[in-house]
Amino acid sequence: MLGLKESPWIIHYDASSCNGCDIETLACLTPVFDVERLGVVNTGNPKHADIFLVTGAVNEQSFAVIRNLYTQMPEPKVVVAVGTCASSGGIFRECYNISGGVDTVIPVDVYVAGCAARPEAIIDGVVQALSVLEQKHRDMAAAGTRADQVLYLRAQKSDAPQILALQKAAYQSEAKVYGDDGLPALQQTLEELENEFDRRPNRETSYLGARGTQGDPEKDTDHIVFLKAVLQGKIIGAVRGFALDESAYLSRVIVHPYYQGRGIGRQLTEEIERAFPNAKRFEIFTGHRSERNLHQFRKLGYQEFKTEPFTPAITWVYLQKERK
Ligand code: SF4
Repeated sequence: MLGLKESPWIIHYDASSCNGCDIETLACLTPVFDVERLGVVNTGNPKHADIFLVTGAVNEQSFAVIRNLYTQMPEPKVVVAVGTCASSGGIFRECYNISGGVDTVIPVDVYVAGCAARPEAIIDGVVQALSVLEQKHRDMAAAGTRADQVLYLRAQKSDAPQILALQKAAYQSEAKVYGDDGLPALQQTLEELENEFDRRPNRETSYLGARGTQGDPEKDTDHIVFLKAVLQGKIIGAVRGFALDESAYLSRVIVHPYYQGRGIGRQLTEEIERAFPNAKRFEIFTGHRSERNLHQFRKLGYQEFKTEPFTPAITWVYLQKERK
């Protein structure tokens, strides 16, 4: 943490600023204020950044970019809304194409007031962000000792943005394993994920590889069931699945990279198995080079029964187990 605090890396994004706050932000980095002499580095790569500085209100075009940049930043990370527009929408708040401040898309940790925000205030915001960053780092480091405080709950459609962000963070390591950014989990959009909450699985349409016939709309388990693992109000893990023909099909056991190796994935799998009390058989799949997943599923009693090529680089391995 000391290294982070001594030399935080910042990424700056202009969401739709009039340029006033951008110029002040750049003034912080150029010779008059020169925060680089204090170790602050301005990076263009979100994967290297600790602090996300956003100027301007959120509009239709910047909405997706903000979420995309935020998702790519490693944990722990801090978001600073610079200026009135980024904090609340400012004078553009009522405009037809403005959804509001940055916190309409992602959680904001520090708000810097001003129109335009003064360089001194921006630097002060960065200093506050460092304290938040330190606290988050401590919280995450301590999470291993608080595994018993994780709650396993049914997720709702309103959780979709957090689950998608988590999914994209959790699958970064898989993309590296397969050398492929085109994994379905990384390509999924918010709209597609939200639709899954409403959709009943059937043979033709389910990407999960479901087989069977139309389910009963009155039965909860004939919908795709989402579970979430929550620690201190934050979703740190998720899993989904559905039941058809006395089998339950489970998918995407995801745990935030910072919380992996603490039994949360195992607990999620066990919880979702319990969500289908009438299932006599459980099925799950993962990529052939996802050693960690394969090991975890075998430990839970699953055995491989078929493989299926997906792309030249990825072969799905299907595992199953009978209910004891
Ligand atoms: S807060 Fe003022 S200076 Fe900053 S982007 Fe908005 S209108 Fe421009």
